[in-house]
Amino acid sequence: MSIGDKLAEIFKQFPGIGERQAKRFVYFLMAKNPAYVEEFGRLLAELKKETRRCKKCFRFFAENPGRSISAAGRDICDICADPNADEGILMVVEKDSDLESVRKSGSYAGKYFVLGGLVPIVEKETPKFVRIKELKERAKDPGLGEIILAFPLSPQGDHTDFYVRGELKGFKAKVTSLGRGLSTGTELEYSDDDTIKNALLNRQ
Ligand SMILES: [Zn+2]
Repeated sequence: MSIGDKLAEIFKQFPGIGERQAKRFVYFLMAKNPAYVEEFGRLLAELKKETRRCKKCFRFFAENPGRSISAAGRDICDICADPNADEGILMVVEKDSDLESVRKSGSYAGKYFVLGGLVPIVEKETPKFVRIKELKERAKDPGLGEIILAFPLSPQGDHTDFYVRGELKGFKAKVTSLGRGLSTGTELEYSDDDTIKNALLNRQ
């Protein structure tokens, strides 16, 4: 197998990328000058060194952007450590890119929790797929007044909403879900700021 074919195999595993797109990426890199491709390779090699996962919300963050993480570095990300972010409200999202979209929209000022996936509709061993144990631990926080579930508008997103609601029964915090005024299949990741703002205003 050529290096180009091996690279295409890797790109094919990226979210939302099919075989044809994967090959286009490889041809794109082949056509670039050596400095561009070297910089691309260098950044790839450094990515994991710069990044760690927050112990509180489980999102990835760069401790010192552009530099390697240190053994003595902090475990908690800038959002979790931010004293201005509302501790009384927690938004649960599927993945990091959803969190990023909500954060950029500027319409939410609370804390976050990255569940790490959605719950498959036909699956009995759910805890394998999502951080439900960690979420329940977090939900014990007596200062927490509301937990907002912000999953995609899809059958799997709805199923995850239903499952997490069930698991959070009996906790003090009120559990709400984002407003469903959006069209079916909408993902937070691709929603514009106004859509996110409205979904938040219309949560129930
Ligand atoms: Zn965090």
